Amino acid sequence: MKLFDTMSRSVRELSPRDGQTYRFYCCGPTVYGPAHIGNFRTFVLQDVFRRSLELSGQPTFHVRNLTDVDDKTIRDSQAASMSLGAFTDLWRDRFHTDCDKLSLLRPHLEPSAVAHIPHQIAMISELMEKGHAYRSPDGSVYYRVSSFSPYGRLSRLDQRELKEGASGAVTDDEYDKDSVSDFALWKARRPEDGDNFWESPWGEGRPGWHLECSAMCREYLGDSFDLHSGGVDLVFPHHENEIAQSEACTGHVMADHWFHLTHLLVDGGKMSKSLGNFYTLEQIEKAGFSAAELRYVLISAHYRQPLNFVARDQDGNESFPALQGARQALQRLARFDAALSAKAGNVEIPDYETLLTVKDGASFEGAFEALQNDLNTPDALGRVFSATKQVKPESLSPAEAAKERLGFHRVLAALGLELPPVAVEAVAEAPPEIALLAEARREAKSAKNWAEADRLRDEIASQGWIVKDTKEGYELCPKN
Ligand code: AMP
Ligand code: ZN
Repeated sequence: MKLFDTMSRSVRELSPRDGQTYRFYCCGPTVYGPAHIGNFRTFVLQDVFRRSLELSGQPTFHVRNLTDVDDKTIRDSQAASMSLGAFTDLWRDRFHTDCDKLSLLRPHLEPSAVAHIPHQIAMISELMEKGHAYRSPDGSVYYRVSSFSPYGRLSRLDQRELKEGASGAVTDDEYDKDSVSDFALWKARRPEDGDNFWESPWGEGRPGWHLECSAMCREYLGDSFDLHSGGVDLVFPHHENEIAQSEACTGHVMADHWFHLTHLLVDGGKMSKSLGNFYTLEQIEKAGFSAAELRYVLISAHYRQPLNFVARDQDGNESFPALQGARQALQRLARFDAALSAKAGNVEIPDYETLLTVKDGASFEGAFEALQNDLNTPDALGRVFSATKQVKPESLSPAEAAKERLGFHRVLAALGLELPPVAVEAVAEAPPEIALLAEARREAKSAKNWAEADRLRDEIASQGWIVKDTKEGYELCPKN
């Protein structure tokens, strides 16, 4: 599989360092509220990435942390009059529920930052011993950016920008440091932190966010691992700082590959609560759409392109045209699957684990290959639809239909798409051979092959069934 690497700015082949398991880390959610659909764009595409690797025969080890201590989690737990632990547990559980609905595979490990504070303290001590960190008068500890000469490589910061203090590196409460670009490894306890502080050799306080990920990566993936990932907003300063911390400590390259996902926009702009365009899965469901429909929209654009989630139509009504389109697309795929299934004799579709052993995706192999080529999800979807047009279930033998269905489901598994029930219920009641003829007629109609469509209508009629066109598609009813 090939994927764009932010560090080298090129598409590179992926291969595991240990020759066996592809080991990667994704920066996880900050658990202080529900994740929004932008966060889920990132998590869903990381999930397609993992599925595509696994289905190509490459085992993985996926670590994704929970950021359960930082300025936002502390602030909002206090506002809710809850302990930090109870508050972040609540939002962690909600995140898991949303992830399950969106068919995200659970990471193999999901470490929490709070549970790894001793690891973070040990790393700070090491950085101080090696001359990369210093204690400020208030008891905070800062990373000395000038001590790490490769700093800025990932985000291509030049020295001038660094001296001026690149945007994002400085926050109000970080004033006791030698240089504006230095960042906090340990934040001294302040009254507004309440009970949320830990003992350290430098006094009471709490870890800096960047350090949390470095410590958890090192603990579970070692000094060097295969790939590190997050949304594009994490390139700077978060990932730049992670590299500075980890590589200064270990002397080894932190990750061989950096995988960043471009942001989701809503109606052409950034999502924000004040603009009223901030959506969670719960809101999407309340509007009558499913998690599978949202997932379909989220994978419909390439991860290196911004995805514009269209929520409002031209008149400004919140009608979610993107999700409506996804609903139709999934229905088409479900109808195709029903036709294949009828022909193949309703053999059971293997579960994900079993699909991992399927080698030949038959007519769907091209779609699978598109995923191997820089995770091109829109190309993969395009090829899935071409294949569903080319494969004519009615002209296949049961064995051929079964094989095509396996290939089809292998691609669906890589994309993590679950098919909805076929909306036209009457199709399910008609015998399989009638359902097949009706599907073939629908295909003929959409190809404007009216003669063939009429012939199929007559054939269906000759077997005792009437096909009626409806707004959604068609219905099959027995004659009289
Ligand atoms: P957070 O919970 O804020 O730590 O973010 C979790 C993940 O979502 C990170 O990888 C972010 O980079 C990513 N992310 C945040 N906003 C967006 C967005 N609008 N589109 C895509 N990914 C995002
Ligand atoms: Zn991180």
